[in-house]
Amino acid sequence: MSSAEPLFEARDLVKLYEVRRGVFGASAGKVRAVDGVSLAVARGETLGLVGESGSGKSTTGRLILRLEKPTAGQMRFDGEDWSALSGGRLRAKRRDIQMVFQDPQSSLHPLLKVGDQVAEPLRVQRITRGRAVAERVAALLADVGLSPAAADRYPAELSGGQRQRVAIARALATGPKLLVCDEPVSALDVSVAGQILNLLADLRERRGMAAVFIAHDLAVVARVADRIAVFYCGRIVEEGPAADVVARPLHPYTVALLAAATASSSSGSPRGLVLAGEPPSRVAPPSGCAFHPRCPIARPRCAVDTPPLEERPGGHAAACFYAGELRPVAAGGPPV
Ligand code: ADP
Ligand code: MG
Repeated sequence: MSSAEPLFEARDLVKLYEVRRGVFGASAGKVRAVDGVSLAVARGETLGLVGESGSGKSTTGRLILRLEKPTAGQMRFDGEDWSALSGGRLRAKRRDIQMVFQDPQSSLHPLLKVGDQVAEPLRVQRITRGRAVAERVAALLADVGLSPAAADRYPAELSGGQRQRVAIARALATGPKLLVCDEPVSALDVSVAGQILNLLADLRERRGMAAVFIAHDLAVVARVADRIAVFYCGRIVEEGPAADVVARPLHPYTVALLAAATASSSSGSPRGLVLAGEPPSRVAPPSGCAFHPRCPIARPRCAVDTPPLEERPGGHAAACFYAGELRPVAAGGPPV
């Protein structure tokens, strides 16, 4: 394995889901939840995935974690063919790739003490035994800013932010090389969310761990990511260094995302995506470029041809025939 090889790499990932009318109904078609996604994460790097609800971010996260099998495409992780790994080798390798989800309430077991939950991966992966387990658990709790006394608590006795810290401690227990975080702060108050983002940034610095950080809020993603991939309708429409994507967006959709984030934060309304036009149908997506019905600079060609994700100088790529023609506007300005 050459040192230039990314820690994680996915090529042309596709995930289709059958949609049915009613529980036992006939097939109503297929959702192309993920529709040809390629991405790479270098060692120690944080890749942010951003986009509206339904754009395929979580599905991509589950494919990366091997919680689901892709319909098509390949993945490599840490020098191995990750999409082909199975059985004992897959189980053993799972210690190197861990996850944190939006809702620790549902990812933590309500009837197990915090200490036992953080210890579980240590036991399952046979990393630590006997008395050393309690010491390791205390160290992990300290790493995420919790006191050793938290080990004896039940999740319901903790605040939302403390529960997310527990979920992070458990994810860190096996010493992963890659952490996949899916909307880890979306259920938290703004100030608590900020603390958790700082914790994640700090842990990553201290451990040299890579991360895939998923959120619908571009402002949140920009705080933690080195690179950002913008999702629309199951595809990546823009990808590049986080600072460039935010300062010099190339795709009209990213421009709209930025305007929405700026508008909602300056108006004091809760952060989120308020974008003009209907989100695309995922069962019958628009022809050509899926963004064309909402795009302020769309031309006839955009309804016919699908623009490929094309790399430009500076490692900044966009899937738009007219990329860069639309410049961001200040909040409150005209839409185009
Ligand atoms: P995001 O995380 O960006 O909100 P998702 O990856 O959750 O998007 O979903 C992408 C699309 O795939 C959505 O249209 C969603 O309804 C569909 N989808 C996701 N998971 C399933 C599933 N298990 N069965 C059927 N459709 C699904
Ligand atoms: Mg999601």
